[in-house]
Amino acid sequence: MTHLLILGGTTEANALAQTVAEQGIPATYSYAGRVENPRPQPLPVRVGGFGGAKGLASYLRDHAVTHVVDATHPFAAQMSGNAVAACHETGVPHAALTRPAWDAQDGDRWHHVADINGAVDALSGAPQRVFLAVGRMHLEDFAAQPQHHYLLRLVDEPDGLPLPSCDVVVSRGPFTVAEDQALLQQHGIELVVSKNAGGTGARAKLDAARALGVPVLMIDRPALPQRTELSNVAQVLDWLAHSGVNLGV
Ligand code: NAP
Repeated sequence: MTHLLILGGTTEANALAQTVAEQGIPATYSYAGRVENPRPQPLPVRVGGFGGAKGLASYLRDHAVTHVVDATHPFAAQMSGNAVAACHETGVPHAALTRPAWDAQDGDRWHHVADINGAVDALSGAPQRVFLAVGRMHLEDFAAQPQHHYLLRLVDEPDGLPLPSCDVVVSRGPFTVAEDQALLQQHGIELVVSKNAGGTGARAKLDAARALGVPVLMIDRPALPQRTELSNVAQVLDWLAHSGVNLGV
């Protein structure tokens, strides 16, 4: 019997969960447990880490998982690496649902850095008003550059922040270009720091930055092991069908 495990926490994973539920495919949706009130899903949900690649392999065996779709964020490199390793070990078919990276367009003023540390280093220098759009997990790294005033947009109200000067907007998105343009103007933003997440939901800040001539420090994606990569829900359904899942029952 089919049992699909969706590694989630993204818009893409939510869309997949919706379709999988509509198709009646037996599945479980997995959250890391990073946000206080994760979105409800139309599938059974489990929350929390598995305990590394070994822990995930045990989970796959114990719960008779037949297929894994890794629909985590492109920067969730640890989880994605573990998924590849655990599926290799257990022989469970595995594919990633992932969005293409963003490319700069005419008028964009992007400066690329390889990772979070590269972004922190690039921020040495005179104080600026910076929209730090990297999520909550890496804020502490930026405490090394306390001279800037930071604008943060977070899913949950933070419980104390490591940055001495910042404004916080609590919001989950998706965001429109008009909203983000207004946000950048309202806060006098001189630099946007962004991960190259791809997709539409978080793109607005980059379009807003281009419209206003604001430069962007773009953190490139982490390298991931080789894997089957699919870019939309229809491709995942095709992959499932080709991997022996009976759709629509
Ligand atoms: P990560 O660094 O790759 O993962 C660290 C550990 O968290 C993993 O080793 C795993 O713990 C656990 N984990 C991660 N995703 C999980 C999932 N879907 N289900 C169960 N356990 C999970 O991941 P991250 O970058 O912190 O991302 C955590 C979650 O937030 C993911 O669901 C991701 O899709 C979502 N997210 C991340 C970003 C981002 O910028 N990184 C942005 C938006 C959403 P064990 O080793 O114990 O199994």
